Amino acid sequence: MSEATSHEDLIISVSGVRGIVGSALDPSQLTRFASAFGTLIGGQPVIVGRDTRTSGPMAHHAILAGLIATGCKVIDVGVCPTPTVLLMSKALNAGGSLVITASHNPIDWNGIEFASESGRLLSKSERTRLMEIYESGDFGLATWDKQGSVELADTAVDQHLAGVLSCDWVAQDQTRAHGLKVVVDCGNGAGSVISPRLLRTLGCEVVELNCVPDGHFPRPAEPTPDALDQLCDTVKSESADLGFAHDGDADRLVLVSEQGTPLSSEYTFALAAEFLLNKRKGNIVATVSTSRMLDDVANRHGVKLYRTPVGVGYVVEKMQEVGAVIGGEGTGGVIYPELQYTTDGIASIAAIIQFLAESSPLTVSEVVASIPSYAICKEKLEVPSQQTADVVLQLAIENYTDETLDLADGVKRVWEDRWVNIRKSGTEPVIRVFSEAQTLEDAQELCNSTLDTLKSLMRRVSN
Ligand code: MG
Repeated sequence: MSEATSHEDLIISVSGVRGIVGSALDPSQLTRFASAFGTLIGGQPVIVGRDTRTSGPMAHHAILAGLIATGCKVIDVGVCPTPTVLLMSKALNAGGSLVITASHNPIDWNGIEFASESGRLLSKSERTRLMEIYESGDFGLATWDKQGSVELADTAVDQHLAGVLSCDWVAQDQTRAHGLKVVVDCGNGAGSVISPRLLRTLGCEVVELNCVPDGHFPRPAEPTPDALDQLCDTVKSESADLGFAHDGDADRLVLVSEQGTPLSSEYTFALAAEFLLNKRKGNIVATVSTSRMLDDVANRHGVKLYRTPVGVGYVVEKMQEVGAVIGGEGTGGVIYPELQYTTDGIASIAAIIQFLAESSPLTVSEVVASIPSYAICKEKLEVPSQQTADVVLQLAIENYTDETLDLADGVKRVWEDRWVNIRKSGTEPVIRVFSEAQTLEDAQELCNSTLDTLKSLMRRVSN
């Protein structure tokens, strides 16, 4: 699973495995993946957690069977955000962790994210090995006297809260004195079990919106600006200072201003980077499709920005290589290395609340206005399969003859004042088109003309 591939309609990528429940993702496959993982880590202790999806209990039982059968002691942390599960793995120095989640995918999806020892994301060679074991069915099954076990642990949320609050850039006396009023929309996902608590601990007046962790998502799990109408309306009607929204497993965070305007997800990383670089100088790492705002933030602080292909694993590898102080993606996922090497939407809440406390009396809009802005357009083109996406992308590479074509991840066309990146999603059968320019009209035009080109290439594929 070094690259995203379809496997009997399952989507296997650097993030793990995902599929639609009731068709592609069935219990026997989940058990096989869990057995392959238990074999990979040699039957060591494993932390298991899940998001709130209604298919979670099914997947949970299937996965426990596979892990117990390979002799793993399972420490079951229940419903938790992905970063909460991985931090627990770090705290307990576990041999691996397995999160049952489809992150921001639609409600009918579920899947597994795998991490190696202490919550570290799997390396490329570990991913390849996992798939080899899965495909061969050569599992290290335990005999009757070496079966694994399950232990429940309800301390993961406390552990994560304590970890975030102990970061040296959080000052609770300041956030409490500032006392913001915040609407938090967890989309009834895993953030529901922790984010309202964190905000109250930071001294915020909290209005909970969609914070019932029952897996019935009242809005798309991906918190794109058009999915946040209810949050925007609530920020206005409550006269709140800002709004926060997570994706299904709360490793991402996006913001809504005090005016009830959804901010591009790019702002989460840009603001967090600006905040942290005010405190400590160091390199930052972003993906190829993350906003030019990060270049400006890096230049302003005199630090270096490194770019990687899209995917948290690539960002983490580069962060460790260059000793970065912060890294992330334009999707609203930010990595705080002093806490852990994974995107953490909970830590992002603390960073933004602290930044606003230190920026008092500025509002969110005023803080945002202090960062040079670009307009970003994000579109996606649905494709019948990931194979089609591969063919269309290859045709696109042949179609464009620009001198500055960047093929680090998909196709990125770069001009002096704008860029457009076309790439295959690793987690859904879609081709993503992101563009950035100085005005929204220019960004949209670039996105739309690229989509038109892709659609005509797709027609060539289907003919
Ligand atoms: Mg996620």
